[in-house]
Amino acid sequence: MSHNYPRFIFVTGGVVSSLGKGIIAASLGVLLKSQGYTVAIQKFDPYLNLDPGTMSPYQHGEVFVTDDGCETDLDLGHYERFIDESLSRVNNVTSGMIFWDVLNKERRGDYLGHTVQIIPHITNEIKDRITQTLDSHKVDFVITEIGGTVGDIESLPFLEAVRQFEFENKGRTVHIHVTLVPYLEPSGEFKTKPTQHSVKDLREIGIHADVLVCRSQYELKRDIKEKIALFCDVSPEAVIACIDATSIYDVPMNMEHEALDDIVLEKLSMERKPKELSEWKNYVRIIHQTNLPKVKIAIVGKYTALSDAYLSVVESLKHAAAANNASLELIWVDAETLQHEDPKFLLADANGILVPGGFGDRGIEGMVIAAKYAREKNVPYLGLCLGMHIAVIEFGRHVVGLDNAHSTEFDDSTPHPVIDFLPDQRAVRKKGGTMRLGAYPCMIKEGTKLYNAYQSHSISERHRHRYEFNNTFREVYVQNGMVFSGTSPGDTLVEVVELPNHPWFVACQFHPEFKSRPYKPHPLFTAFLKHSVERDDKKLSQSSSFDNASLRAQ
Ligand code: GLN
Repeated sequence: MSHNYPRFIFVTGGVVSSLGKGIIAASLGVLLKSQGYTVAIQKFDPYLNLDPGTMSPYQHGEVFVTDDGCETDLDLGHYERFIDESLSRVNNVTSGMIFWDVLNKERRGDYLGHTVQIIPHITNEIKDRITQTLDSHKVDFVITEIGGTVGDIESLPFLEAVRQFEFENKGRTVHIHVTLVPYLEPSGEFKTKPTQHSVKDLREIGIHADVLVCRSQYELKRDIKEKIALFCDVSPEAVIACIDATSIYDVPMNMEHEALDDIVLEKLSMERKPKELSEWKNYVRIIHQTNLPKVKIAIVGKYTALSDAYLSVVESLKHAAAANNASLELIWVDAETLQHEDPKFLLADANGILVPGGFGDRGIEGMVIAAKYAREKNVPYLGLCLGMHIAVIEFGRHVVGLDNAHSTEFDDSTPHPVIDFLPDQRAVRKKGGTMRLGAYPCMIKEGTKLYNAYQSHSISERHRHRYEFNNTFREVYVQNGMVFSGTSPGDTLVEVVELPNHPWFVACQFHPEFKSRPYKPHPLFTAFLKHSVERDDKKLSQSSSFDNASLRAQ
């Protein structure tokens, strides 16, 4: 049976970082899965943090959260969206985790009498992690992406472990090396030397690249592929051109066109099977339509457009826009700027306003201004985690009449702590992995916007927070018109708030963005985009006027 004999695909990167190894690994996963194979996919990150949970989004982009509550690299988000499977803590391994486990074993006495060393103790631990995905999940292929760039000191133990692993699993491994083939405009030529050097670096470590995926600006002609093949000891068919794509969702088809999956299957002596990719192709067809109506969504946060801080949010918006046959245009609004400028200049164009998750008090008042604008101007609003706290604070201050209502995350001495610590979070002092993390159930009230979106009484969504709605204020909020449409079982924690007298104002404590897929858009995002598309400009001009001056005075 083939699943007793998994094949192992390693994806390394060379020349420069940020070549999109994760997208290439995930695209190969799509192509293999489309042939009926089962695929496990994992990322090895060479940094020493136990997980990216405590890193700044400026450094590391978004922290992705799995169902089982692990804070992981954002590539796991790409993996889930591409291969359409929920991953877990075994799918992201950092050097920190490896060292932690080895040192704990040393303290426990597991290595009594021995000197604990990188080889074999660290490399053995890494090799165990390559196969750990197999325990719970019988698979045909394990795709392992090694983070970083060949030549980094940090990734050496991982590469050494991969070398040993290949030796121990002869004929069952393949190495894909992702490189860059730059094009020099003035002389009009491609340069293959960086790729040659990177392959040489890999060979010095004892790894022979079987397939080269060459990122390039333009198409790589046969002669360039032959040159790379000759210098790098691979066949020209194993030189795969990966031209800059307009959408990451084009990459599986581009890789299919270059026969990446065929060459991998051939090298692993596995059968080529017919592919079922119709849903994927249909999604790609929609996103490339040029005549779709535009839907403009303002993201009001504290990170800039270039950062990957809100990656899953942006991808979810794209999926939902396609589901609504609309073309997404993002308006990035720096929350701090909103504190000093009239929101009508920054938000007037928006068909919908989204306040994403976040930590720390920078820009909070600007987000409150955005939520007030959305509520008063009848602009569809979606609040995610912090975006729910903001909606609650705004409603408390301006509708319920609770002056200076706030979250104790930002103001410890607020007279109205409408958002406060989760009961079991107050005593927590350690930072990493200590929030309320992962999937929890949420019960939905019928007849609400939330129920309308999900069409279900009970859902499960992923969380990452320390603060929540303070139940002391529930009654007064209900009296003033806020609806608590989603709560944890037993009605204990507020999970979703919404405004019934508004076209679409929904804010949730959880992070729906982690569960959207290109052709299975998330119901909350789909509903938000639907109402954003439908937003009627005439109604807006009739809605109540917005008094920004009073907010600025606070
Ligand atoms: N900072 C808030 C909390 O810890 C919100 C977290 C988030 O948006 N992920 O509860």
